[in-house]
Amino acid sequence: MKLTRPELWRKLIYWLRSTFPHPDRDITVRAVNIPDKYWDSTGYTDIINGNFRIVIHKKSVFATRIDTLIHEWAHTLTWNSEEDHNYKWGIAYSKIYRGYLLWRDENGYW
Ligand SMILES: [Zn+2]
Repeated sequence: MKLTRPELWRKLIYWLRSTFPHPDRDITVRAVNIPDKYWDSTGYTDIINGNFRIVIHKKSVFATRIDTLIHEWAHTLTWNSEEDHNYKWGIAYSKIYRGYLLWRDENGYW
């Protein structure tokens, strides 16, 4: 079944929450227009009221939004690491990305 991009986006977030939940904190996702002065930013993660908020640049192309979401989701699961993109983050990222590819193909979403 071919989904629209908004449908796929919503299903992807739901799948991430159920497949790769954070043990202690909620994770919300917002799509916003990140100002042009942050030209290299396709997204970021911060903590609001004790829970994670992933911010994705609304104007990125869809494939980049997905990559950024998976990248940031891995940050939530490895948040206390000393270094942002260390091996723990890399392992989390690869597990999520591989799971995403399988999920997408098994459901015929692409
Ligand atoms: Zn990062």
